[in-house]
Amino acid sequence: AKKPHVVILGAGYGGMMAANQLQKKLGTDRANVTLVNKHDYHYQTTWLHEPAAGTMHHDKARVEIRKVLNPAKINIVQDTVEQVKTEEKQVVLKNGDDLSYDYLVIAVGSIAETFGAEGVYEHSYHKWTLDGARELKDQIEFQFAQYRNQEEAEEQDLTFVVAGGGFTGIEFVGELTERVPELCEQYDVPREKVRMYVIEAAPSALPGFDPELVEYAMNLLEHRGVEFKINKPISEVQEGKVILKDGEEIAASTIIWATGVRGNPIIEDAGIEANRGRVKVEPDLRAPGLDDVFVIGDNSLIINEETERPYPPTAQIAMQQGVKAGENITNLIMGGTPTKFEPEILGTLASLGGKEAMGTVKARKMYGRSALFMKHMSDNRYLMKLGGLSLMLTKGRNPL
Ligand code: FAD
Repeated sequence: AKKPHVVILGAGYGGMMAANQLQKKLGTDRANVTLVNKHDYHYQTTWLHEPAAGTMHHDKARVEIRKVLNPAKINIVQDTVEQVKTEEKQVVLKNGDDLSYDYLVIAVGSIAETFGAEGVYEHSYHKWTLDGARELKDQIEFQFAQYRNQEEAEEQDLTFVVAGGGFTGIEFVGELTERVPELCEQYDVPREKVRMYVIEAAPSALPGFDPELVEYAMNLLEHRGVEFKINKPISEVQEGKVILKDGEEIAASTIIWATGVRGNPIIEDAGIEANRGRVKVEPDLRAPGLDDVFVIGDNSLIINEETERPYPPTAQIAMQQGVKAGENITNLIMGGTPTKFEPEILGTLASLGGKEAMGTVKARKMYGRSALFMKHMSDNRYLMKLGGLSLMLTKGRNPL
């Protein structure tokens, strides 16, 4: 009989873990496995606020896929997925020939959610990808570099607006507050010329975090010069300014969008039922009504049975789903049955720049250096799983 073809779309946390699992569990005599990704590297989405602010070199946040997966076992294809046709069981690629699959894993991550605000895609930095981070870093430096060369510098030249005071926005502004003093010195700019705003639509920054942790983070960031505007939805982004629903306008050379995500449009284009681009998957991670399609990571939506609300999309869940999708596909190919995915939430830790972080580990609140230590240990654990000790030593964090 013909060997089944397993196709994985996207080499993020979910896709890499699925490929890693299939490489371990499924012999090449049992199935062919193909991984399709836009780039020949895998990047650490959860680290991108650092290269974006320029506090980490972007190369540290990526790893060549061939170095961590075995190309003799996984067929690695660098291409962009354009379309998934579930009836024909085919994937349309931008450059190469279409791929036919027997089992598909969709793990192409997310894009910015605009919540109806106009002009976001045109006038803000909204791409949380390695390319996006590199571009934002250059933009920030450019604003400093040109500042002294202007006849009349304007306040907005060094105004940075972060739209969204959730996890990503806070982590980014934390790094920015670390970078700004360095840039001021390098480009002879007085510190008071720089303004940093975080604008949040909800009644609190960091929705979902314990109020004590929120206060800790906000105090720390305010102390470093961040101005918060809470409970202030943005209605529109124009070239060089944001317009709030209450009519206030803030002029800024650099607008960074971080209000949350929606699933990659490939999902909706495929006609798979979705909510903000995310598929409410079956307990075994398959798409409803599609026996051969697994959807994981930011493309999927799973409900927290305790709160009856969806889990926020995280790398933590994406990785665990990747492993489970790999196991379930192995089961199906070996004649077994797939099993239920049960997330194990170990904690949530947000970095705040420098040696600062905060969050919870197993329901215990943590602050400062010890919180950052735990976060870096968890980053290192992932690298160990992905590429063993040598990867952890070359790309890992110094937890101290
Ligand atoms: P991703 O990891 O985003 O990977 C998607 C992959 O698909 C990418 O490699 C991309 O290049 C590829 N791709 C996309 N489109 C195509 C296409 N058309 N064709 C081919 N390939 C394609 N989560 C946590 O748990 N903890 C944290 O501390 C944390 N911090 C974060 C900080 C920041 C700044 C950001 C932006 C997010 C953070 N998150 C965190 C969320 C976490 O990064 C995501 O939930 C996670 O990356 C989702 O994993 P994924 O595998 O679904 O997608």
